[in-house]
Amino acid sequence: MKIEDLKTTIRDVVDFPSKGIVFKDLTTLIKDGEALHTMSEALKELYADKGVTKVVGIESRGFIGGSILAYELGCGFVPARKPGKLPAVTIKKSYAKEYGVDTIELHSDAINENDVVVLHDDLLATGGTMAAACELVKSMNPKKIYINFVVELEALHGRDNLPKDCEVSSLLKF
Ligand code: AMP
Repeated sequence: MKIEDLKTTIRDVVDFPSKGIVFKDLTTLIKDGEALHTMSEALKELYADKGVTKVVGIESRGFIGGSILAYELGCGFVPARKPGKLPAVTIKKSYAKEYGVDTIELHSDAINENDVVVLHDDLLATGGTMAAACELVKSMNPKKIYINFVVELEALHGRDNLPKDCEVSSLLKF
């Protein structure tokens, strides 16, 4: 399967989770073995020669591709979680959502200054979630941060809200 063909395996769910949103449902991609394999290989190829030491996956859909990528690269996986879920000492960042505020947390010892990090989530919409996660990772002073998505919704210009000093890549653009 070609990377571009992965688009046909993603299901659009209209008015989920609220009216006016077209939700890109990746469960139909990951339940298809050939598509999951194509996605995994494509993610690996993006970062194979970059010296990555940790993949940070954003709860919860970012845990799927993030874990696969970490496994493929032979590096560590770090979960960026919703508030109150991580058991040890954390650092946290709140950010504005369409309605209200959300918070994301990382264990304070998750990243160090020798790390080369890929921050991964399933989808880039406005970029608010990733910008907050990136600020947390940056505060731990890793050598380099890459940002990665499976899907990017280009019309929302989420890239404009991400730090300019981080290389951003997405497998599929809609
Ligand atoms: P944002 O912070 O606006 O970039 O939103 C990104 C987060 O919300 C990701 O974790 C996505 O899983 C989720 N998300 C936002 N919009 C959609 C959408 N249209 N379809 C699927 N997931 C979405």
